[in-house]
Amino acid sequence: MVKSSVLGFPRIGGQRELKKITESYWGGKTSKEELLKVGKELREHNWKLQKEAGVDIIASNDFSYYDQVLDLSLLFNAIPERYTKYNLEPIDVLFAMGRGLQRKATDSHPAIDVTALEMVKWFDSNYHYVRPTFSHSTEFKLNTPIKPVDEYNEAKALGIETRPVLLGPISYLYLGKADKDSLDLEPISLLPKILPIYKELLAKLREAGATQVQIDEPVLVLDLPENVQSKFQQAYEELGEDLILTTYFGDVRPNLKAIENLPVAGFHFDLVRVPEQLDAVAKLGKPLSVGVVDGRNIWKTDFAKAAKIVESAIEKVGEGNVVVATSSSLLHTPVDLDSEEKLDPVIKDWFSFAKQKLDEVVTIAKRVSGEDVGDKFEANAKSIKARNESSITTNPKVQERLTTINESLATRKSAFPERLAEQKAKYNLPLFPTTTIGSFPQTKDIRINRNKFAKGQISAEEYEQFINKEIETVVRFQEEIGLDVLVHGEPERNDMVQYFGEQLDGFAFTTNGWVQSYGSRYVRPPIIVGDVSRPKAMTVKESVYAQSLTKSPMKGMLTGPVTILRWSFPRDDVSGKIQALQLGLALRDEVNDLEKAGITVIQVDEPAIREGLPLRAGKERSDYLNWAAQSFRVATSGVENSTQIHSHFCYSDLDPNHIKALDADVVSIEFSKKDDPNYIREFSEYPNHIGLGLFDIHSPRIPSKQEFVDRIQEILKVYPADKFWVNPDCGLKTRGWPEVKESLTNMVNAAKDFRGKY
Ligand code: GLN
Ligand code: ZN
Repeated sequence: MVKSSVLGFPRIGGQRELKKITESYWGGKTSKEELLKVGKELREHNWKLQKEAGVDIIASNDFSYYDQVLDLSLLFNAIPERYTKYNLEPIDVLFAMGRGLQRKATDSHPAIDVTALEMVKWFDSNYHYVRPTFSHSTEFKLNTPIKPVDEYNEAKALGIETRPVLLGPISYLYLGKADKDSLDLEPISLLPKILPIYKELLAKLREAGATQVQIDEPVLVLDLPENVQSKFQQAYEELGEDLILTTYFGDVRPNLKAIENLPVAGFHFDLVRVPEQLDAVAKLGKPLSVGVVDGRNIWKTDFAKAAKIVESAIEKVGEGNVVVATSSSLLHTPVDLDSEEKLDPVIKDWFSFAKQKLDEVVTIAKRVSGEDVGDKFEANAKSIKARNESSITTNPKVQERLTTINESLATRKSAFPERLAEQKAKYNLPLFPTTTIGSFPQTKDIRINRNKFAKGQISAEEYEQFINKEIETVVRFQEEIGLDVLVHGEPERNDMVQYFGEQLDGFAFTTNGWVQSYGSRYVRPPIIVGDVSRPKAMTVKESVYAQSLTKSPMKGMLTGPVTILRWSFPRDDVSGKIQALQLGLALRDEVNDLEKAGITVIQVDEPAIREGLPLRAGKERSDYLNWAAQSFRVATSGVENSTQIHSHFCYSDLDPNHIKALDADVVSIEFSKKDDPNYIREFSEYPNHIGLGLFDIHSPRIPSKQEFVDRIQEILKVYPADKFWVNPDCGLKTRGWPEVKESLTNMVNAAKDFRGKY
């Protein structure tokens, strides 16, 4: 009998229960007990769902109130001292590390003021983890509550046997960083200190009754330095033989040496991404969990294809040694397709969300075991065929236009120095020009009115008036505090990708397809189902209106082709390059329309460009960088020299070399948590102008003017004043007005202090 296994289930709840309760807890409207109760209900619901679907191996400890990596830092006591001195309860320490905490003093509490830890993209996904942050004084120990044990017991009490999942020690350390007081510390050197804690934890899980533990070492799909590769043997010899060493999102073959003699119970590999690795990993001579149901996308699994891979695995290692699994945790997929009532049934038949994937895993496992699965295989083959043959996916006009792309179409009229001279003459901006990244607080009022409009309770005219009023508020505020390059605030946009997807042809949408991006922030990625084109202008009206209110330059605001591609569920029948170039052409029309309408500073956001970078160096990576840059330039090269093209990047370890080829005039990057002077230096060599983000927009915390001054001063030690823009890390939409007002005022005043000094 071949078993079925799911590496993790989305924790957010079918109706975003987790978001609602955590935000309400943060707002002081819900008690801790209530928060914990909802968490417990969500776990119970998910376990039962999997049990009922017939999944044999169900994960526990896949739940988290914020982020599973952050949970480990709390559990292992990797808590920088600044979070421990207030005697907060564990869950509040967790949230403080995740999102910062600022509280005025009261009779019973001293004032609290801590920034959040750094947040980074999880491999090549749009999920963000909170980076473990270590210093010389980090003392690992097992803190209570011991969440993995508690949750294992919780499932057991429901009569459900689970397999706990833990991020393994090498990945946990390697994905971490040194704190600013310990920059010489190499996290991997802490392995001897953390192993005993892992051992203690595993012993407790065994004591509770766990017979196997899924231990994730996803760093095995990266290019690992020798001193990291060599640690696996040492670590896993100590940890015990009941572990399933799990990797996903890529190819382990280049690191096979590191794991070929590990005394583990078995391995899991992602055979959706890299089916070719089966041959090599079968030679490890251990039981194999084969990931054949995609944990990262929403297309129905092609049963026949998946079964073939599983059968080939059975041939190689024997039926008793194969488990059919999701490729990764299902965290990256929406919860339930059944709740999508508005989807065109023809298209809906092509999709499978987390709940549907449970059935896929079970069905494939049964089929390869020779059990009866009814007509499920036939029905699946029919859906796959219908999609392959559908005319919805192809648009000959778009395909024809793609052939017109060449070097000159994707190149600005002149090189940067000439453009800069023309832009200087046109805008005459001061040194340290100030701007923001685009969005302003998405208030309750905005959400209410958007909803009303969607439901037809207010007319298009009324809605437009409302949006215009919001734009005016944002413009007046920016003028008042003296920002130099203004934005309209994006009140009309629910989300920076969805908003464009909704106006482009070739997309499908969900009403409830939320996926966690970080903490309580979820996104609802549109789905690219066919060739993409722009039927009409998408943003011109709002930008023109905003510009009409002010003499200061108004930035047009677009989401770039790579980001629209990456933050949608992409097609799997056409390459990423083709989809990006189609998006590039659609956006080119928009950029040109904006320019024609007098909007001549235009920001094209590409925050997802780094996350799309293939995980390993090599040809695939350089190819990606080439087409990513080309699609951006296709979008932005149709304008005059004097039109200033901005771009923006955030929450990843951006390498300036990755973005040079975009040839944007000004880029802004998230930077407030980057402490390494070498990193700043790398950016000083970037030829065009850069705004190094000065404050963390994920945190409600307000930086003082002095803090901004100090930070600018520090950056100026390595970064030249004449290329220095001043801006926050990212858009402000998740923040509230009071903190935005104060933070931005402090930021602008700090920038003004430096003018005249350089
Ligand atoms: N312009 C977008 C905003 O300000 C950019 C967001 C992002 O980078 N994620 O919200
Ligand atoms: Zn950003």
